[in-house]
Amino acid sequence: MSVSPNQPEISVVIPIYNEQAGLAALFARLYPALDALGARYEIVFVNDGSRDNSVSILAEQFRKRPDVTRVVLFNGNYGQHMAILAGFEAARGDIMVTLDADLQNPPEEIGNLVAKMREGYDYVGSIRRKRQDVAWRTYASKAMNRLRERITNIKITDQGNMLRAYGRNIVDLMNQCAEVNTFVPALAYRFARNPTEIVVEHEERAAGESKYSLYSLIRLNFDLVTGFSLVPLQFYSMMGMLMSLISGLLVAVLVVRRLFLGAEAEGVFTLFAITFFFMGVILFGIGLLGEYVGRIFQQVRARPRYVVQTILQQKDESQPAPPPGVEKRTVGRHHD
Ligand code: UDP
Ligand code: MG
Repeated sequence: MSVSPNQPEISVVIPIYNEQAGLAALFARLYPALDALGARYEIVFVNDGSRDNSVSILAEQFRKRPDVTRVVLFNGNYGQHMAILAGFEAARGDIMVTLDADLQNPPEEIGNLVAKMREGYDYVGSIRRKRQDVAWRTYASKAMNRLRERITNIKITDQGNMLRAYGRNIVDLMNQCAEVNTFVPALAYRFARNPTEIVVEHEERAAGESKYSLYSLIRLNFDLVTGFSLVPLQFYSMMGMLMSLISGLLVAVLVVRRLFLGAEAEGVFTLFAITFFFMGVILFGIGLLGEYVGRIFQQVRARPRYVVQTILQQKDESQPAPPPGVEKRTVGRHHD
């Protein structure tokens, strides 16, 4: 399984964006929790263009525990999921665990995820026992979950939760994807052979504040649906078909009526109401198409999805080169 003695079994990947207030508390729980597992591990922090002091705190932590710490530094903000994907490219473990930096996911749960992985699952999702978020987020995300599950056929009970473990097989496949605006748990689920879920604790944010506004949550869900399913487009064209059928019938009825009963001038406002409704439907359709076209646009442009400025890591000759045919989607200097 392992190629070299310092090849880790577990890689913990953590995206960091403006988390200076909480990092010390994170380190204080994360390292002991992993040391307690008695397995070879590494922690890959990915700084997603923080504008606060996070980078120097991470660099300091790298100096303290260089044997088990790697720090990937982006040159800008590319979003949580891009950060996790970059972490996957830098990580070497057989079991990958993702975690939020804000201690909402207790590091002590990593052991449970790993135990489940060792039972032979290649994807271990998690369900928060009791969510510690504001009420509207809990309800909105439950409703979105159900809708998404119908549309995309991806069964993730608790999509807002990043505390998850993935097998090397899944991560290798994800590293080959060049998808923009993706959603890591859903992408991984697509590749999973044997997925399962466990229940985990969830805590309040230790420090700092949520990086997600209502707007970005709506965006995220649009990306999730358009990135994984054509059902909205198909539904729309079916609906369009039905509507044109009905309005075609209406036209026929009106023509006959006009021929036999003469012109009619009443019902103007009913007509307006119907017209406005259809206009709304059409605008929604254009917007929906736009979501897909935008996605195609980003994808064919094929720019690097993120730019890695530096990686802080210990020199390691055993680091395998990327497999042939797998283009590295990063550019920039790599420090060793
Ligand atoms: N994050 C990131 N880039 C971003 C936004 C967030 O790397 O643009 C990280 C953030 O530092 C945290 C995780 O993603 O580790 C989840 O963010 P947050 O806790 O704000 O999200 P919430 O828990 O409110 O969904
Ligand atoms: Mg959080």
